[in-house]
Amino acid sequence: MSFLGARLGLEKRMVEVVSQDESAWFEDLYPPSLSRNFVGFSSVPATETPRKGCANPMCASGWTKPWRNKRRPIFEGQWACGAGCLEALVRNATGRELGSGVAATPQESPHRHRLPLGLVMLEQGWITHPQLRRAIDAQKSAGAGKIGEWLQHECGVSLETITRGLGLQWNCRVLSLDGFTPRSMALVMPRLLVEEFGLLPLRAEGSRRLYLGFRDRLDASAAFSLEQMSELHVESGIMGTEMFTHAHERLLDCEFIEATRETMRDTDEMSQKIAEILIDHQPVASRLVRLHRYYWLRTWLEAGAQSRVGMVPASSEDVFDTIFTVGLQN
Ligand SMILES: [Zn+2]
Repeated sequence: MSFLGARLGLEKRMVEVVSQDESAWFEDLYPPSLSRNFVGFSSVPATETPRKGCANPMCASGWTKPWRNKRRPIFEGQWACGAGCLEALVRNATGRELGSGVAATPQESPHRHRLPLGLVMLEQGWITHPQLRRAIDAQKSAGAGKIGEWLQHECGVSLETITRGLGLQWNCRVLSLDGFTPRSMALVMPRLLVEEFGLLPLRAEGSRRLYLGFRDRLDASAAFSLEQMSELHVESGIMGTEMFTHAHERLLDCEFIEATRETMRDTDEMSQKIAEILIDHQPVASRLVRLHRYYWLRTWLEAGAQSRVGMVPASSEDVFDTIFTVGLQN
């Protein structure tokens, strides 16, 4: 089949998938108010269209052998002619992620030096000196709790005001639950990462932007990793504890992409394992990002699994995640 023929075939399949009634996710992902912004129904994400030939710069064989299939497996938009070349591509990606500067833990992320929340709010005139004093004293004598919580409980400062203060402190938006689409947002990233790092994919806007909510502090490093995986511009924002907790619970009730955990001795062993997975499953798209101490491989088995919102899957079918930890980290 010619390249064009194959491409048209893929487009037809994607339209078929979209037209199925059971695809309730579709409305979830594309509320009517947003759907008119879509560029089109029929484009296979260009970044995952393989270049011709083996992508391994050190390849000796060209693309005449040994694999017959010249379309799969695809790793980060690239095709390799055989297992050795594929592993070389994966190893490059692993090295890139290892050296990407992504912090191993959220605490190591940059931007640790911020004006304390109490001072931010005092500066705005949203609280008084005596109020701040009272909250700090209460926090000290209790030896626990966040200053925002004490301002709320001791001084009656509204949750909304505190959340606004956090937004100023982190220089980010305050996000609301407007347009929250838990079912489709559960497909954005693995449950493990959503749970462990307190991340809340909230909604996609058009086909380019993803809103990512946080409780009371941003995690720029996680947002960056998600941006690499989803190909969406990630807009991070603070939500405040109550709203975040409520939405996070709703999200965790939804069906996530199937995920497998793997613990590897080192990144070499991980690269080999990834190459094996790709050879076994022959995905039409796959990519690797590091999110703190985890390496997250996402694998799309069929073109229909790709939505038109970046690389966010269309449903939980034909997509799977593998989450690696390397070395002594567990
Ligand atoms: Zn090759």
